[in-house]
Amino acid sequence: MVTTAATVSTGSGPGRSPAELLRRLRARSVADPVTHVERVPSRPGVPVPWPEWATPELRAAFEGRGVVAPWRHQAEAASLAYDGQHVVVATGTASGKSLAYQLPALATLLADPRATVLYLAPTKALAADQFRAVAGLELAGVRPACYDGDTPRAEREWIRRHSRFVLTNPDMLHHGILPGHAHWSGFLRRLTYVIVDECHTYRGVFGSHVAHVLRRLRRQCARFRATPTFVLASATSGDPATAAGRLTGLPVAAVTEDTSPRGGVTFALWEPPLLPATADDAAQDLTPTRRSALRETADLLADTVAEGVRTLAFVRSRRGAEVVASTARRALDEAVPGLGARVAAYRAGYLREERRELERALLDGDLLGLASTNALELGVDLVGLDAVLICGYPGTRASLWQQAGRAGRSGGEALAVLVARDDPLDTYLVHHPEALFGAPVEATVLDPANPYVLAPQLACAAAEAPLTADDLELFGDGAKEAVDALVAAEALRQRPTGWYWRHRERPEVDLRGEGGAPVCVVESATGRLLGTVDGGSSHFLVHPGAVYLHQGVSYVVDQLDLADGCALVHTEEPDWSTHARDVTSLSVVSVRSSVDAGPVRLFLGEVDVTSQVVSYQRRRLSSGEVIDTRPLDLPARELRTVAVWFTVTPEALTGAGVEPADVPGGLHAAEHAAIGLLPLVATCDRWDIGGLSTALHADTGAPTVFVYDGHPGGAGFAERAYGTAAAWLRATRDAIVECGCETGCPSCVQSPKCGNGNNPLSRADAVRILDVVLANLPDGTQE
Ligand SMILES: [Zn+2]
Ligand SMILES: [Zn+2]
Repeated sequence: MVTTAATVSTGSGPGRSPAELLRRLRARSVADPVTHVERVPSRPGVPVPWPEWATPELRAAFEGRGVVAPWRHQAEAASLAYDGQHVVVATGTASGKSLAYQLPALATLLADPRATVLYLAPTKALAADQFRAVAGLELAGVRPACYDGDTPRAEREWIRRHSRFVLTNPDMLHHGILPGHAHWSGFLRRLTYVIVDECHTYRGVFGSHVAHVLRRLRRQCARFRATPTFVLASATSGDPATAAGRLTGLPVAAVTEDTSPRGGVTFALWEPPLLPATADDAAQDLTPTRRSALRETADLLADTVAEGVRTLAFVRSRRGAEVVASTARRALDEAVPGLGARVAAYRAGYLREERRELERALLDGDLLGLASTNALELGVDLVGLDAVLICGYPGTRASLWQQAGRAGRSGGEALAVLVARDDPLDTYLVHHPEALFGAPVEATVLDPANPYVLAPQLACAAAEAPLTADDLELFGDGAKEAVDALVAAEALRQRPTGWYWRHRERPEVDLRGEGGAPVCVVESATGRLLGTVDGGSSHFLVHPGAVYLHQGVSYVVDQLDLADGCALVHTEEPDWSTHARDVTSLSVVSVRSSVDAGPVRLFLGEVDVTSQVVSYQRRRLSSGEVIDTRPLDLPARELRTVAVWFTVTPEALTGAGVEPADVPGGLHAAEHAAIGLLPLVATCDRWDIGGLSTALHADTGAPTVFVYDGHPGGAGFAERAYGTAAAWLRATRDAIVECGCETGCPSCVQSPKCGNGNNPLSRADAVRILDVVLANLPDGTQE
């Protein structure tokens, strides 16, 4: 597939237009893989004068860094914040959001020599970047400092006493600053601004935790009568004022019109071709499959690198990023020995030194191609990229634009390509470009009332200072019930003056912890730590026998020790990949809300889900053929969460032409596609959601499809699905109907995470069932 030129241009780029580059890329396939090309035009910036309150000293500092005048959105947000109004600025990548908060914060620090500012970023790396930016302004008396887990003990006290601009992350605020508030009283007493950067990353369960950490911060400030102004910065997102309001618990104004200049982008939607069916396939009755998005992306990466085009490929999984990098490297080395060395992989699980080295190499041009997980969405200021390849829809339009925004940042023209995966949502999108280019970006979903978040956060708050009745109002809906439960569990003691934490040790609460502590991956022979895998995915990724990739090197897991949190591996390069399987059962705990629509009923409620990874398949790398299925002995895991479900009466199904024997296959197919399409209406990932379907469920007494949040207590996704059920299920039906296959494929009703090996599945009956649902369910929002 790669027809690499013998010479490689180096230096500043390809010297040809993105349209010409795209023409060359698509000409290499027999069938044209491009389903749509959108030209996103360049846009001039709208500069405005500096706000009057920005002093000459401050202006000079920014002008010295090359900022001649602010863009209008920067000035607008800055002035609102300077007037004490909580504000969120939600604009595109590289639109200069930092000026919107730096300007009012620094103006205040210069005017009031006692004032302090707290800056929060989701990662240490981003806080470090922001530190360099603020320190680079060289303003007297500001004394910015990073305060995180890496800060030496000796420096911590100096920072607490003297820094007036402390940069940290929510985890440090939660584990360090708030519990140690007595040491921070001087800082908190004078706190004027709290800056929450990249606030769209605070979504789902993590976002709900951060929402309460901010309430705990507000509570400590209130004890000193400090009422800081919150300034939030977000990627473009739907209804940022509401999301920021939920995050902070305060009324927040929004500035959303991006007035920064932007280079033009040629944006192509790319659907890998169907592989020709062989006689063998036909004999085995195998459904035709598409060329994998990973291989297609690897080829595109090799092609662009061979043309001297500096390219970033975003791949959703860490494993995928490794595969894309190693495949592209091999293809390039075959064409020009040594050229493969200019491609690398990047992901969050790498050790810090490895990541820094890769960033440096791409910035210096030693690397031309980088395959990355979305770890790179945050904090790395990469400029001058000529092409961005997006392997698989990243789950939200907001992420898609953020990733595509890495292209053409320097003001030049650039190319972006979305390569569709074999997946119902991706298939739907490459054939419905209006759903990408015409639609507003999604709202950030979080649910601070989640009792699994609220109770531990209230315990933390009580350990910091006894809770009072007023505090319950601050923590919002469900706080009283959560406190009562903590009293009943003997975690809190009620006294006339409030609720007191009963233990000596502080409560152990991990903001990002979903499935427990991370698991370390260790090479047995050398004892070398290769990286970490989060606890929630460890059963899937590093079970015994799993193939694990690190920097293109293949390892096989010998042992997963859950008690010690480590997986022992050895190097081995088998010609198969591994895919874990799980089994799931579900029971309804309570119904929160329901819609009675004749033969169809729709529900939102709490459920208990039990699931267990029980086996894994080995599949041939070259063909995807299943070699065998091997059993695993891993413990079951319990989850109480929120689900949306619908039932259809057996009579209505028969009336629609669904034979009783086909009901399980039809429901199962509808469930898979519905899970695949849910990210269209909620900011979630297919992997954040689970599902279950059955022709007769004991708790509903009817044929039922359940879709549930994969996080304890729910993350707001099922709730969102319930609220937009008609639109969600209509897109699901359309995606199935419009798929080009005959009997169902991964692009419509098959699921890569099915615990039943995608059996039974009936594509045609799924459409019949969804037609019954849509004919009866009222349109619009269910409340
Ligand atoms: Zn299909
Ligand atoms: Zn399934």
